[in-house]
Amino acid sequence: MTDRKGELAVNLAKVEERIVAACVAAGRKREEVTLIVVTKTYPASDVRILSELGVRDVAENRDQDAAPKAAECSDLPLAWHFVGQLQTNKVRSVVGYADLVQSVDRSKLVTALSREAVRAGREVGCLIQVALDAGAGAGGRGERGGVAPGGITELADLVAGSEGLRLDGLMTVAPLTGEYAGRELAAFERMMDLSTDLRRRHPAANMVSAGMSADLEQAVAAGATHVRVGTAVLGVRPRLG
Ligand SMILES: *Cc1c(COP(=O)(O)O)cnc(C)c1O
Repeated sequence: MTDRKGELAVNLAKVEERIVAACVAAGRKREEVTLIVVTKTYPASDVRILSELGVRDVAENRDQDAAPKAAECSDLPLAWHFVGQLQTNKVRSVVGYADLVQSVDRSKLVTALSREAVRAGREVGCLIQVALDAGAGAGGRGERGGVAPGGITELADLVAGSEGLRLDGLMTVAPLTGEYAGRELAAFERMMDLSTDLRRRHPAANMVSAGMSADLEQAVAAGATHVRVGTAVLGVRPRLG
């Protein structure tokens, strides 16, 4: 085993222990929570090692980095999640490798994703990114992307009615500002309520992607189905990402 493989194996085992402990504490089964490893800023060689270590889901937030990495790793049995703010001019590229786009937050993006998914003959899973710190009302948007809770239904209906797209659920990042700042558990519990509302209209859209390295326990406690962990597996990122 290379040094890097050993390091990633140890880190993965620690994260796995944290998820198991959080599931036990919440009375949930381990299989109810999927670990997505956020590989942004780290090289394709790390993605390859993670795959060898059994990781099946990876996430990226910048198309410029993700596209070549996904191409280098196209032989691996991985699901690729796109979790970053997405400009419509990058959609064609992203649809070329992303199995899921977790950062769907405006109708223009839905239209572009649908058009490119149809053109590529692919089905792209979509999560509506929710900004719990956005201004009230359907028009409110978060600083780091995401739609205010009031805008979820309209976007979800649009995704569900769009060719080439599949509505899979909701995603959020714990807000740094507003009423939920520093209250991760409360934020994620609010997400679960929003998910319950969404599933009344769209029963299959049952994914709730919430929780990162610092707050995965709170996400699992609230009921998240997917946690997105970067730093705790790969180390502190060498640059902002
Ligand atoms: C970077 C990132 C993560 C992972 O964050 P860590 O704190 O490194 O675990 C999760 N979700 C999104 C949207 C990200 O951009």
